[in-house]
Amino acid sequence: MTTNPPQLAPRPSIDRLMSELMALAQISEAEPPVVTRVVFGEADMRARAYVQGLCVAAGLMVTRDAIGNTFARWQGSDPSLAPVATGSHIDAIPNAGLYDGCVGVLGGLEAIRVLQQMGFKPRRSIELVIFTAEEPTRFGIGCLGSRMMANVLTPKQALALRDKEGRSLEEWRTQAGFTGPLESVAVQTGRFHRFVELHIEQGPYLAQEGLDVGLVTHIAAPASQRIVIEGEGGHAGGKLMPGRKDALAAAAELILALESAAKSTGAVDTVGTVGICEVFPGAVNSIPSRAMITTDVRDIDRVRRDGVLAALASAVREVSARRGVSIATELVNADPPTTCDPAILAALEASAIAAGKSCRKMVARAYHDSSFVSCIAPTAMLFIPCRGGVSHRPDEYASPEWIGSGVHVLSRTLAQLAQ
Ligand SMILES: [Zn+2]
Repeated sequence: MTTNPPQLAPRPSIDRLMSELMALAQISEAEPPVVTRVVFGEADMRARAYVQGLCVAAGLMVTRDAIGNTFARWQGSDPSLAPVATGSHIDAIPNAGLYDGCVGVLGGLEAIRVLQQMGFKPRRSIELVIFTAEEPTRFGIGCLGSRMMANVLTPKQALALRDKEGRSLEEWRTQAGFTGPLESVAVQTGRFHRFVELHIEQGPYLAQEGLDVGLVTHIAAPASQRIVIEGEGGHAGGKLMPGRKDALAAAAELILALESAAKSTGAVDTVGTVGICEVFPGAVNSIPSRAMITTDVRDIDRVRRDGVLAALASAVREVSARRGVSIATELVNADPPTTCDPAILAALEASAIAAGKSCRKMVARAYHDSSFVSCIAPTAMLFIPCRGGVSHRPDEYASPEWIGSGVHVLSRTLAQLAQ
């Protein structure tokens, strides 16, 4: 065995990795190839066991925390140093495909195995992390495991979570065998030296441009609100226009105010959307007495995003006063946008060049576990193309070549960061 990795090209075993991805896809609540794996359900538990078995077979030391986040460690020559980490999730929304999350977990494992087979000896330990419940299906909140690691979701807030049937997170996780105190899930800054997540793009650009990998410089994050407008109903014929308090007309003004605020930043990364509008009583000949809209504002820059929220808040005050309607706003969530770590991005770029892979920098438009890991460790993401940008559907697809390129670049990057 040689111990000089920079002169050797890592050769991921694509056949092994693809057969493991296909085997994992067979573990589903739905009829394969449709993948459904909701956290702590029977398929999620079998999938966890399968992946852990692969990690143990690779000689990794596996531990789990109280919410089921799983850590598979390849011990470095200096175990006192914080590890370099990679990983993603294996849970899947109903009727999903087999690449979202799983490429980052099994691809991360393959990146470790290929370094092992080259005879590489990392100074820092390299750790594969499998996060619990990146998808919000069961408890209505995404990135559960990484959120709790970063203490963005506190144990108290976690204890209040229920599924649609009213079963608590506590009941589900205990039944799944995760029984330690939830307070032990949060980790301190410094737990990881660096974290890098391999993931399919879930957008069309890399495939369209024929590029091998994308280096994610920022991860956008949403802030969403529920806005309820209470006006005054009445007969659409009987009540004349002067003095009306039409709740939907007020909502329409807010929708346009949000659109204009999002456009006015001048940044392509600012987006504002009203995706839900409910009208009461909802009859053709009745003035709307109540309207509910939801707003979703995303950006890679928190200050700019919060500026759009402030402009919307001032429109709420102005429209409410002018039209004589009462408007209640409720913040549903406001997650932190991420700026990725320049040192990891430099390592990713150097690795892509050394591997002969084409790449470009890009923004992640959907959030990921990396969004929350970035609160506790320098973080970046590595994207590979996915066909047509299709994701969260059974026909989601990434070719073995794309996956192989991602794993190749990831393995070089991990080696560099762990030295
Ligand atoms: Zn994902």
